Amino acid sequence: MTHATYSLDALMEITARPPIAFVRGKGSYLWDDSGKRYLDFIQGWAVNCLGHSPPALVEAITEQAKRLITPSPAYHNDASVALAKALTDVSCFDRVFFANSGAEANEGAIKLARKYGALHKNGAFEIITFEGGFHGRTLATMSASGKKAFEPLFEPKVPGFRKARWHDLSSVEQLINDSTVAVMLEPIQGEAGVWPARDEFLRDLRALTAKPGLLLILDEIQTGVGRTGKLFHYEHTGITPDIMTLGKGIGGGVPLAALLATEAVSCFEHGDQGGTYNGNALMCAAGLAVLDQVSAPAFLKSVTENGLYLESALQRLSARHGLGEVRGRGLLLALDLCVPMAPAIVAAALDDGLLLNAPRPDTLRFMPALNVRTQEIDLMIESLDLLLTKAGAARRVA
Ligand code: PLP
Repeated sequence: MTHATYSLDALMEITARPPIAFVRGKGSYLWDDSGKRYLDFIQGWAVNCLGHSPPALVEAITEQAKRLITPSPAYHNDASVALAKALTDVSCFDRVFFANSGAEANEGAIKLARKYGALHKNGAFEIITFEGGFHGRTLATMSASGKKAFEPLFEPKVPGFRKARWHDLSSVEQLINDSTVAVMLEPIQGEAGVWPARDEFLRDLRALTAKPGLLLILDEIQTGVGRTGKLFHYEHTGITPDIMTLGKGIGGGVPLAALLATEAVSCFEHGDQGGTYNGNALMCAAGLAVLDQVSAPAFLKSVTENGLYLESALQRLSARHGLGEVRGRGLLLALDLCVPMAPAIVAAALDDGLLLNAPRPDTLRFMPALNVRTQEIDLMIESLDLLLTKAGAARRVA
């Protein structure tokens, strides 16, 4: 059976997807099974940080696959040892646990915080998270998330998460009690529609948590690995969190995620945490190839430059079409359309061969490859300009 003879009926229906299947990708472009080409400003949901099938990643995976895929998690492998060392060298953390998805890394962060609470804080276990936050789709990470649509699902939720209001320090303060062990947040709420925390807010949170010895957990699954122009978002603020999770970009497109912690907080004991595929050599070789490229100062500088280029192009577009603000940092940006036309724009863009994402009905999100070219940004802006003109004309007729 070739890939082109599949039946879509064999897959569980978990979301609405267009009836096309992608068969090839290169850089900022994807091709579907009819040969149609698409300019990709989703990139696997901010995953393919070096674009589709980048040569360095392909070579690293190929070479590693020839040599060793996994010896089992009961043994060390050289790729995971090297990637853990590389991550601790470029961050404020001392220890790493590798996972296979962002949700699993966050699940690990929650467990680590609870373990810390059990050992050092009289059994404190509550974690303060934020309204609008998104931390994944396991039961605990859905419970930690502040996404409204999750509220009625899969009850009863995992207890122990209290939701503070986004950007409201006093609402965090009010939730702190003897059972609190940590505060957990995304530096930029991505899935909620790209809502950045002000650097000042993150610094205030660090000060607030440091006093009573609470852990600060940053979910950098969307913001980490160069996305905002620094290797990790926390570097913009001068603070050091106790725990950080990475996913998405760290694998450049393959399932790799990581839980990082300072030595003082790394309190897992044998049997507390693990998993068959965790830290397997194949994925860690991919992570090494990604980190090698993304951590280069010149690469990070180009992310900042491309981000500013995209941001100002979006601002001009917004002014031309009478739209709202452009939010975000680096190459994680959103355009507020002010009216709920984002799903229609996304559908029309797909027809025109442009992949865009709408995290909310009134918001478009842009998360291209970190090495996107300015000509590709220009092309996306040109296409979006036309789509917005058509949508504006259609609204005036209606
Ligand atoms: N945390 C954040 C901030 C995310 O954006 C996501 C995914 O969108 C996750 C966690 C979950 O990651 P995964 O889908 O790899 O489980």
